[in-house]
Amino acid sequence: MDIRELIFPNNHWVRLGLYLVFILILGRFKSMFTARIFWAAFFLVPAVIILYGLATGRVQNAGTWWNTLSLVMGLGMGVLGLLVLFPQLAKLLPQPKPKKCKVCGQPADDVFIVDGGKAEGIYCRRHVMENFERAFKAFMYPFVVFHPEQERAGCATMYPYYALDEMVNKFHFEKQARDNVQRCIERISGKCNKCGENKAQVAYFRKGILTWAGSGPQLAKVNAVPQLLCLECTLKQITPALAANKEHYSDNGLFAPYKQAGVYVNTYL
Ligand SMILES: [Zn+2]
Ligand SMILES: [Zn+2]
Repeated sequence: MDIRELIFPNNHWVRLGLYLVFILILGRFKSMFTARIFWAAFFLVPAVIILYGLATGRVQNAGTWWNTLSLVMGLGMGVLGLLVLFPQLAKLLPQPKPKKCKVCGQPADDVFIVDGGKAEGIYCRRHVMENFERAFKAFMYPFVVFHPEQERAGCATMYPYYALDEMVNKFHFEKQARDNVQRCIERISGKCNKCGENKAQVAYFRKGILTWAGSGPQLAKVNAVPQLLCLECTLKQITPALAANKEHYSDNGLFAPYKQAGVYVNTYL
């Protein structure tokens, strides 16, 4: 019998059977080899058979797509086998570029959003917080702040700011929700309830006041009386929770306030 006929029997089932027997034998004596050699053989043997078969025209006459599939399979298994055998080869493969903080160059994953949706840059937690605090303190308009509720499933990484004008048209809040936010903003006057010195600029709602339904916060249902705080005192309330967020701030993550009076509130989008 031709030795080639044994390696490349004409019958697909005989070929598959031989391969299974080969793997079983290897598996049976696996302890004699290292597991790495076993898995390398698992991938490399069929890779060599398929590629050799293609090169010598033995795998053919079943249409072009079948040949292409065989080539992809053979190359794929060959690469996998080589990677198992020589793990150091994996370093040669293109690696995803690690993201770095725009300020300090440390590994970073928090996106800072400006103008209601533009990613301004990627930062480490410390520097995304610095940006947020700077933008917050520089904001001129009165606004509403709901305490960050980072542990809510599904919106853990989002703390968006919604400008009043955009709430209904762009973000599909009900008109009553928008009107309620505006009512809260109109209450803001006088000095900060906490420090008694600075001008109050924020209507602040502590954790637990907001209720949620389906796709978002039920802003229309809020009828609690907000604390009227200055920017400094509001930041003192919310930054520990924002800095401690276990998730990364992704594309809808942490917003700078922008454009006009509005509201900070965790939301599903
Ligand atoms: Zn940094
Ligand atoms: Zn204050």
